[in-house]
Amino acid sequence: MDWNRLLTDCVDFTQRLIQTPSMSFKEDAIAELIAAEMRDLGFDEVWLDEIGNVNGRLHGKDRTLPALVLNSHTDHVDPGDPALWSSPPYAGEIVDGHIVGRGACDIKGPLAVQIYSMAALIRNGERPLRDVVFSGVVEEEIGGAGAKHWVENLDYKVALVVLGEPSSNDLALGHRGIVQMWLTLNGRSVHASVPEKGRNPNYKLAEFLTLLQARKQELRNHPILGPTTVSPTIIEVDTKSPNVTPAWTRVLLDFRTASESNNSLRAFVGDLVGDWPHTITDAWCAPGTLLADSDEVIYGYFTPPESDVVSRVKTAVAQGMEREPEIISYQFATDGRFFVPYNIPIIGYSPADESQAHIADEHISIAMMDEALHGYVQLLRDF
Ligand SMILES: [Zn+2]
Repeated sequence: MDWNRLLTDCVDFTQRLIQTPSMSFKEDAIAELIAAEMRDLGFDEVWLDEIGNVNGRLHGKDRTLPALVLNSHTDHVDPGDPALWSSPPYAGEIVDGHIVGRGACDIKGPLAVQIYSMAALIRNGERPLRDVVFSGVVEEEIGGAGAKHWVENLDYKVALVVLGEPSSNDLALGHRGIVQMWLTLNGRSVHASVPEKGRNPNYKLAEFLTLLQARKQELRNHPILGPTTVSPTIIEVDTKSPNVTPAWTRVLLDFRTASESNNSLRAFVGDLVGDWPHTITDAWCAPGTLLADSDEVIYGYFTPPESDVVSRVKTAVAQGMEREPEIISYQFATDGRFFVPYNIPIIGYSPADESQAHIADEHISIAMMDEALHGYVQLLRDF
């Protein structure tokens, strides 16, 4: 098999993907492009599901084994003002060994590598060890409805999902979960001319935020996925009148954690507030469901480094790339969180560089794509 041609075709496919804009909800054209490419490359099965996820399957030597799934998403974020780009965001130009364009890194370059690693085996007259399924899911950038639908409707067994989210050809074993809660501090509203007659919760909020900053490092760390962080984001009061003190003030607390539970976070917040009248309500939680009263540790996904699946992936990828991948974690959240309740192991492996996601002049290195193609091909053979 001609490796140079494989890489050239993979780069060309990435350019065509970038030249097909696919903002969330406008992913039909790109799904058709991907499906047509997989058909042309000789995949055994190609299909779209009812919400527009695009899938392609290569039959393995042993079809009784659970499948290896290569996951990427078909949408991307808005390119913003094209004037901020030195090359047009939907041109897919090659500049200094990089493909430039919206989605180049997140996630069209990695998506092309996943598909062309499958094509490599076809061109070489080989079969993967087990069935390999490419899964291109819709709407990742706006909440992950595509991945959720995919996993809820799975009708085959899955041994591992490999995410194409940026990992610089290292192995990303997880990321923290997100918990957002409102802390509401209650007071007594009065005319602003007689503040001594009321109880202004804004002062309490100032005290709370100072304490939060001082004591946030008491929150626990996860050895691989990192520290628990907290960011106060939105602040609101009940009144719109400039001459009325608020009856309540509330702050949204955005926690990222892989070592705390909803209960432990609520207890931490409650402890900082003390006996001032307050309520804590869930705003949003991702893994998915609100965990109003739960001691369960929250995380996005986590695949332990000592697990068999990680060592098998690491061995195969290292052999393909001729270097050992590092074990890393993602700072951002991924669709992987939806697969956790189904006990499907997840590993991120991608040639893209995380720092390139969602920025102007987003790009991906062709040399990194070449290295990832080698890693993926060996993974398909051995895993
Ligand atoms: Zn992405």
